[in-house]
Formats: sequence, C-alpha cells, structure tokens
Amino acid sequence: MEFINLKAQYEQQKSEIDNAIQDVLHSSQFIMGKAVEELESHLSSYVGAKNAIACSSGTDALILALMALDIKNGDEVITSPFSFIASVEAIMLLGAKPIFVDIDEKTYNLDSTKLENAITKHTKAIIPVAIFGQMADMQAINAIALKHNIPVIEDAAQSFGATQRYNDKILKSCNASMFATTSFFPSKPLGCYGDGGAVFTNDEKFAQKIRYLLNHGQTKRYEHSFIGLNARLDALQAAILNVKIKYLDSEIAKRQEIARIYDENLRNVIIPFIQKGNVSAYAQYSIRTKNRAQLIEKLTKAHIPYAVHYPIALHLQEVVRKVYGYKKGDFPISEVVCDEILSLPFSPFLSAKEQDQVIKAVNG
Ligand SMILES: *Cc1c(COP(=O)(O)O)cnc(C)c1O
Repeated sequence: MEFINLKAQYEQQKSEIDNAIQDVLHSSQFIMGKAVEELESHLSSYVGAKNAIACSSGTDALILALMALDIKNGDEVITSPFSFIASVEAIMLLGAKPIFVDIDEKTYNLDSTKLENAITKHTKAIIPVAIFGQMADMQAINAIALKHNIPVIEDAAQSFGATQRYNDKILKSCNASMFATTSFFPSKPLGCYGDGGAVFTNDEKFAQKIRYLLNHGQTKRYEHSFIGLNARLDALQAAILNVKIKYLDSEIAKRQEIARIYDENLRNVIIPFIQKGNVSAYAQYSIRTKNRAQLIEKLTKAHIPYAVHYPIALHLQEVVRKVYGYKKGDFPISEVVCDEILSLPFSPFLSAKEQDQVIKAVNG
C-alpha cells in the first residue's frame, strides 16, 4: 500500500500527461512560456483571483509574497506553530521575527480568538496556514487584519481546492485574503512531478512586483530594479498541472468519500474535525491518539504506511528556538497535537480494500 498513491493517478491520466510533456519537448520552450501562461489562467479562474503567478515552489511563493511586502529585519510576522517548516523559514529568511498564535484544539488551525493579542506595532503580515487542507477561520482573521491594516497571506500549500462557506458566500482557498500561496509538491492536493508553487493576489501592483521578483527583479530584459530570485516555474511542470487540474474537483470529491468512510469506521482515535461550511482538500487525513506509539506498532505490524505531520512544533524547532528563545509550554495546544497526531494512508486512489485494511489495523 502506498501512503499517497501517485502511481494510480498517473496511470489514469497517462496519455494526456505524456502528450503534454511531448508538446513541451517539441516546443523547446522550457522556462515560462505558453504552458505556464495557460496554467496561470487555469489557476486564476479556478480560485477566482485576478492574478495567479506560477513559481518554483510553495516555499518560494511565501518568500515572494513577503518580499513584495518589503518584510525585513525588525518586522514581526504572525503564523501558526503547527505547520511545515517553510511557513516560518520564509519569515526568518527575510530577517523578520516569527510570532506564533497557538492553534484551535479541534481544527489545528491558528486560533483567531488569540490573534489580536499577538499584534504589535511591528506586525507586518499574518500567515494563517490551512493545515491538512482545511482553511483557517479566514473571515475572522481578515477582519482583525483589516482593523490593524495588516496584510494576510494564506499559506494554502495543503489546501488548493478547499472551500469555506460564510453566510451565502463560498470563499475559495487561495482567494480568501490579500495574498495566498500554494505548493505543487507531488504529494499536495494538486501536485506536479517536481517542485512548483504559485502566489495569488487581486492587487495588480503586487502581482507585477512578484512577477519581477521571481525573475531576478528584472523589469525589462537585462534591466533590474529589485534584488529578486530565480523562482520561475518550468514549462514541463506547468504542462503536467494543466492536465491534472481538470481532474481536481472529482479527486476532491473522492477525498470526501474516503474521509467519510474513515470517519465512520475508525474507533478510539480523534478523527479530523471539519468546521461546518468547510470543505477540506484533505492533503492529509490525520488522527489523534494519546497512544501513538501503540498505534504505530499496530500499523507497522500490518505493513500500513503512516507519517507524523508534524512531530515538533515550529517554535521548538532548533533553528527557531535558538534564535528567539521560545520554550516548551509556550504554545501548549500545538505541542500536545504534535505528540498525538498521525496521518493515515490517503489519496483519491486509496482502494476500498486498502481503506478496510487501514481501519482494521487502527481498530485492532
Ligand atoms: C508543503 C508546504 C510548504 C512548502 O511547499 P514546497 O512546495 O514544498 O516548498 C509550505 N507550507 C506548508 C503548510 C506546506 O505544507
């Protein structure tokens, strides 16, 4: 059994993907170009954001958004302590201080009721993470951010395709705040066959600046107005994504079905809590138990793959702790979740038989 079955997905879409790759090879246009432009137009119409800017990874997407905002030494950026390292890495790479707001015990996303307390006159951005594919409470976060005039960057690396209902409106992940960033790492809900990512914004000026920044700060050929990056997306990845995005909605629907089967059948563990009105992209299906070691033993015996997302809260990562002196107990909910969380095999291609094996192993 695969933890995430990317092979089955490729088999299903093989002829289209192979053709798309061949087209790029015949075009010899390998960096940016037509396939990337096409992808950006698919991405922007999928989420409804005016600008989708393809780039080299989800991490670079975060760095680009922060660079566009001129985040620098002395600034503070708020994020969740329960995330992949990239969320904090981007902040620290620009010299800013990461300020953490502990998570909600049920959704594992930044607790919006604790956000306002963390804001100071140095706060220059807020990065809520849509952990495991479920959007954070964007309405509340945006309202607080607006009140203090602080831009929000949704780290939507795990949630492309997720939605959130608010009153009668459907907010789409990647178009629920001033900026959003996503990742096309192979195992994400929309993955390519290498590294890739995108930044989203409805602001034309920032969009233009990000386009310059990802291409060495070049404003005209060999004229450079910013210190930028080489953070372009290559055409092969874009061509693959142009095929895969067509299947995304049916895959997200399949993810809901499999999650429901897990939800209804798993015993003695805390199943994912999806807030009413939210549709998760289920980048991961993660359960919680105080007896994680015992659960791991059972899974290992049954040859069921698993992963721990994530074993260490970001404030306790050596690289963060060392610089900013955060310590155990600072963000207790994140710390407990790090001790108890475990992700089960999950993908739209997990067969009924495999689902059954996983359920038996967890319950056994
Ligand atoms: C994967 C991930 C990233 C980084 O994306 P890459 O494309 O791997 O650089 C950032 N934030 C979160 C929450 C992620 O899960």
